[in-house]
Amino acid sequence: MISIQEAKEMIQTVPRSRNGFFPTPIHKLKNISNDLGVNLYIKRDDMTGVNLFGGNKVRKLEFLIGYAKEHGYDTVFTFGATQSNHAMETATMCNIEGLKCVLYLVDLTEQKEDVPKANLLLDMILGAEIHIVPANGREEAEADLEAEELCKKQVEQLEKEGHKCFVIPEGGANYIGSTGFINGYVEMMWQMKELNEKPDYIFHATGTGGTLAGLAAGRALLQSDALIYSVTVSPKQLSHLEKVAKIATESLHYIGSDKIVLPSDMHYEMSYFGEGYEKPTKAATEAIQYLARKEGIIVDPVYTGKAFSGMLDCVRSGKVPKGSTVVFWHTGGATGIFAEPEIVGSIWK
Ligand SMILES: *Cc1c(COP(=O)(O)O)cnc(C)c1O
Repeated sequence: MISIQEAKEMIQTVPRSRNGFFPTPIHKLKNISNDLGVNLYIKRDDMTGVNLFGGNKVRKLEFLIGYAKEHGYDTVFTFGATQSNHAMETATMCNIEGLKCVLYLVDLTEQKEDVPKANLLLDMILGAEIHIVPANGREEAEADLEAEELCKKQVEQLEKEGHKCFVIPEGGANYIGSTGFINGYVEMMWQMKELNEKPDYIFHATGTGGTLAGLAAGRALLQSDALIYSVTVSPKQLSHLEKVAKIATESLHYIGSDKIVLPSDMHYEMSYFGEGYEKPTKAATEAIQYLARKEGIIVDPVYTGKAFSGMLDCVRSGKVPKGSTVVFWHTGGATGIFAEPEIVGSIWK
């Protein structure tokens, strides 16, 4: 068995840019624990830094940007929706490390305002090179494909001119980025041990799967038996877990472990995204207000609010037994509160 110390040493063998504020706090939610009859902790990855907002992408980007620096890349490309937290955090980390940042953003909202909002506004303040690909009523996947082709052309051109281009997939979801969440898992287990606690359940929001891959890899590395419940924020096929398991296994390999992660090591909760990505739900709206009014903590409408509503439902329905120790992983997303009205929904009512 691998100790927490040994796991930390394995992670230290790969490049990392160390721009974030780690370890992030973990603390008990006393009022909600009393209300629900579970022992509920919150892991504050909304506080990873570096700009005003934080979030899970900073964990992944420390390893991605660290890799890019180590291998002499000068320009970083990535993808997302116009309100992508990942794109905004990529622009932030590139600025600190002196890399040029180019963003290809699919606009699902048909941006009508003159003044951009939330993450798109931040991308502009941060000075990233931005290419917007309007979805124009197309399926998101189709617009994503166009963004990738446009990016490929620009990369070819820049490489002819002698630049070294590092292309990060949407959400930073590859084995390098997921290493950040192996580190996150090890960090959380170390903190829980200090608190004399042992998690039975971990809840978090899942999108591209990069976070889940890292958490599942960390769990395998430490042979921990906590159950990871991943609340999907958009429609997902169960087969997606094969891709996630592959990334997790590659991440373990990257830090020198021969452990493997299987799809059966993971668990999707798929009934909490409502009509789809960036579409508000009544349950998430209620969960956002409940957490804010009981504990003074803010979660967002796109990711963490949906994950929190899923966790509340699993606890209230008895799927998670009373008395369990539960860690809710706050993955950030604060800027979602200030996005377009059709994304925010009616959280103020
Ligand atoms: C990107 C994101 C997630 C999901 O992470 P993945 O690694 O893409 O699954 C969860 N919460 C927030 C706030 C995010 O920005």
